[in-house]
Amino acid sequence: MKPKKISQLLIGTNNKGKLREIKALLPKNIKIYSTSDYDLKSPKENGKTFRENSLIKASFFSKKSNQICLSDDSGLEIKHLNNQPGIYSARWAEQFGGFDNAMNEILKKVRETNKGTKARFISSLTIYWKNKKFITEVGKIEGNISEKKGLNGFGYDPIFIPDGYSQTFAEMDYKKKLLIDHRYIAYKKLEKKIKTYIQ
Ligand code: IMP
Repeated sequence: MKPKKISQLLIGTNNKGKLREIKALLPKNIKIYSTSDYDLKSPKENGKTFRENSLIKASFFSKKSNQICLSDDSGLEIKHLNNQPGIYSARWAEQFGGFDNAMNEILKKVRETNKGTKARFISSLTIYWKNKKFITEVGKIEGNISEKKGLNGFGYDPIFIPDGYSQTFAEMDYKKKLLIDHRYIAYKKLEKKIKTYIQ
């Protein structure tokens, strides 16, 4: 039997930065919906890993909208802070009163720990079909924590410099960032697996 082509898809995120990046990666012949088209709030993320949380979001938004759904769970892991904030990256920003404060907190902890600035961004992307089939892929990009620089992007972009570059994600043009980051790496892996559904 021929695989059923994906003609429309919901991007299951309430994060505008992620929505913009994922939309830019998907083929243009797929009609894209966002959570605001269905007025959907995000589910509780009670998974223990990026994989678990991306599946929680993708299955929740797919069931609520009756659409195939693609969701991301992502975050920043700082090596010498025991990989914090990790899956709690969004929650740190809430806890400290916004990303600016959360970034200041990270910079302070990195300075105090004084063991180096190694860090990485991780993204787990899950595509979830209405028949409950799903595929998850993970992408990682290694780099270092930097002083806050740049105004583009979102979240923790101003304090992360990927290996091989001299600019933070927030100093890069967003079109450059979206073709190298953790989400792109996860998407490329996923794309291989879903090729027959999207071409
Ligand atoms: P969650 O996946 O909804 O739990 O949120 C992930 C958190 O990590 C959010 O606070 C994002 O802003 C942050 N984050 C994920 N990917 C990126 C990125 O590419 N740049 C900057 N921050 C990111």
